[in-house]
Amino acid sequence: MNADLHCHSIVSDGTLEPEALAARAKANGVELWALTDHDELGGQQRARAAARAAGLPYLTGTEISVTFADVTVHIVGLGFDADDEALRRGLAATRGGREERAREMAAELAKVGILGSYEGALRYVGNPDLISRTHFARHLVESGVCADTGEVFRRFLVEGRPGFVPHRWATLRNAVRWITEAGGLAVIAHPARYKFTPTEEYALFTEFKTHGGRGVEVVTGSHTAAEAERYAGAAREFDLLASRGSDFHSPDESRIDLGALPPLPGGLAPVWEALEDRIDRPA
Ligand code: AMP
Ligand code: MN
Ligand code: MN
Ligand code: MN
Repeated sequence: MNADLHCHSIVSDGTLEPEALAARAKANGVELWALTDHDELGGQQRARAAARAAGLPYLTGTEISVTFADVTVHIVGLGFDADDEALRRGLAATRGGREERAREMAAELAKVGILGSYEGALRYVGNPDLISRTHFARHLVESGVCADTGEVFRRFLVEGRPGFVPHRWATLRNAVRWITEAGGLAVIAHPARYKFTPTEEYALFTEFKTHGGRGVEVVTGSHTAAEAERYAGAAREFDLLASRGSDFHSPDESRIDLGALPPLPGGLAPVWEALEDRIDRPA
């Protein structure tokens, strides 16, 4: 099945409206879709309505920022009740520090001579609650400091580089609980991105399972084919369901388009089989 269960709209750090994403997913042959904006459910109603109108089965989604072993880890939630109060409160608290963090990032960039980056980043922000490094990256590209966003995330905004501001996000335990207690399924997003040692990665997978986490992204826009194989192995070893999602943000920036991913490696149980009764199907 061509499931794409990870992407971003203008409600977080993507560039397209939820309706445009639904149309793009449909046009690209997606058969099951989820919009997973960072720490935010503001696009869910629109995404579900647009999916329904396009005849596209839909799962609610979000991608929660978590601090684990001093590293930022992303946990995707799928198929939860988007009106769940505890989940909504948890996400609001997780979003809470972004404004101040952004001002500090701009102050750090100013120290290396890059002035006005807060105002510059704001021009790309669709949701004032959700200013992210991606918006700074777009500004740094547009103003000619870097050639593309990839260069931004090598030279700036990452640990050890100008513009990086350490931040405490949600705990792994809370993120998994909020999703699970809202009736959803928690998934470790793009595990190859974290550069953990084998011991740290083992701790992440084990603790995630202890808290009730059920899935791992095996095929994502951030994984090479070898990494997909590696995390297919991890899914089997830890008895986790396998997920698949492009992590599409923008037609101009994203390497992998919505619905354009390779299939899951064989022998894995896909997350969507466990979410059958959570799928919103067009009449
Ligand atoms: P934030 O939540 O503000 O820390 O921003 C994180 C976002 O920055 C991610 O969701 C990605 O969209 C983007 N990002 C992080 N690393 C990279 C990278 N190496 N290349 C492109 N985008 C990145
Ligand atoms: Mn993002
Ligand atoms: Mn992510
Ligand atoms: Mn993402």
